[in-house]
Amino acid sequence: MVVPYKHEPFTDFTVEENKKAFEAGLATVETYLGKDYSLIIGGERITTEEKIVSVNPADRSEVVGRVSKADKALAEKAMQVADHTFQTWRKTKPEMRADILFRASAIVRRRKHEFSALLVKEAGKPWNEADADTAEAIDFMEYYGRQMLKLKDGIPIESRPIEYNRFNYIPLGVGVIISPWNFAFAIMAGMTTAALVSGNTVLLKPASTTPVIAAKFMEVLEEAGLPAGVVSYIPGSGSEVGDYLVDHPRTRFISFTGSRDVGLRIYERASKLNEGQIWLKRVIAEMGGKDTIVVDKDADLELAAKSIVASAFGFSGQKCSACSRVVVLEDVYVQVLDRVVKLTKKLSVGDTVGSPTVSMGPVNDQGAYDKIMSYVEIGKEEGRLAYGGRGDDSEGWFIQPTIFADVDENARLMKEEIFGPVVAFCKAKDFDHALDIANNTEYGLTGAVITNNRAHIEKAREDFHVGNLYFNRGCTGAIVGYQPFGGFNMSGTDSKAGGPDYLLLHMQAKTTSEML
Ligand code: GLU
Repeated sequence: MVVPYKHEPFTDFTVEENKKAFEAGLATVETYLGKDYSLIIGGERITTEEKIVSVNPADRSEVVGRVSKADKALAEKAMQVADHTFQTWRKTKPEMRADILFRASAIVRRRKHEFSALLVKEAGKPWNEADADTAEAIDFMEYYGRQMLKLKDGIPIESRPIEYNRFNYIPLGVGVIISPWNFAFAIMAGMTTAALVSGNTVLLKPASTTPVIAAKFMEVLEEAGLPAGVVSYIPGSGSEVGDYLVDHPRTRFISFTGSRDVGLRIYERASKLNEGQIWLKRVIAEMGGKDTIVVDKDADLELAAKSIVASAFGFSGQKCSACSRVVVLEDVYVQVLDRVVKLTKKLSVGDTVGSPTVSMGPVNDQGAYDKIMSYVEIGKEEGRLAYGGRGDDSEGWFIQPTIFADVDENARLMKEEIFGPVVAFCKAKDFDHALDIANNTEYGLTGAVITNNRAHIEKAREDFHVGNLYFNRGCTGAIVGYQPFGGFNMSGTDSKAGGPDYLLLHMQAKTTSEML
């Protein structure tokens, strides 16, 4: 019997012993900084001339690792291996596949501060955010392993006396996993293990700015006993390797987390039938967000301010769940804004390596920096800069937490995803107006309402159109198995990661009926 699922607790870094353990993790990571990593195709290490160089976004002169880069020919080789391996992997016992996840999770748990420390270096995460990322990776494996055990015998259906009917889920085939840099460990590991535990083989193309954590995860899977060829590791460019595999006639499904534009591109390409293809490809997509916290007039305003600051500026706002719009009832608007500015002033920005108390690290890369700073300029036209607004890209890519006040509900700042530490404040006449503003976007991922009004909670529950709606808390930090995560509209296919139906997206149901 497997013990019931429980999420991995977060680490308290005010405890000296935990701080020391994390520093030991950092020291371990230092020993392998700058190393080379090969592609892994069918268990074989393949080194290429061309490399993807992963740097520390807090100090771009520091190389975290150099990773071999797949091209079309190598992607084709990986596809053939995955296609071939599927024929054996699909027949392995679900229990055996789940055991590999449990074992991998145990390996990660034993080395958890090392993995988090690597995220500090490779993704620029503050300690607590890195710790949560690793905890979530553990959770995904523990949860999906158990989910597979629940699904393994199918679902009971009716049979008449003359027949025996069964309803079972079988795997799909080869899945292409295109994972993001912002939850470089958790989401990469979650997408990969969901696909493999349900009996599929996987081509893993990790984000180009965070390929090293994925290489380390490949080592964990191997140590946990995953047979060669079930997951191949093929970092490469989206337009070359990504497109090639999305188009490939043997690709059965694509699991993607990333931007709206790339998601749309994948969705469109996957819908085309290519020579030799005999199925409709499935797309599991988790895309962007333009997430709102609504503050009612009858609300705990201190809770509101704290929730806004944490949701807007945690990991520098680089979460698709991040709060980028605050809609406040006019009665309490000034109070909430003032308090948020005050709390934001206390946040420190800098290199997160040295201390657990640095609140915000860098943003991902030059592209992210330039995009966010261009929205800061737009914000100056569209609203009043209430705090922040400055950036520094001399060594790494740092941007101050930035607050714009008095932004019109139809402004670009209220509609377009920025994916950085920029939040816009907008005034609402009443609660209905606040919900209208919150829904006035093409996205529909997360949202929160801070209120003491029961009727307003019920109204929002029905009318606030987002996949993850939270009351009296922030809008980030969904926990696997507790708050299944995914959104509506342009936020993706509402494929709830960490939820009870996620594995089913990687499988198809087969009915068998035998006459007795
Ligand atoms: N699941 C994360 C959260 O609830 C966000 C995931 C993402 O940014 O892709 O905050």
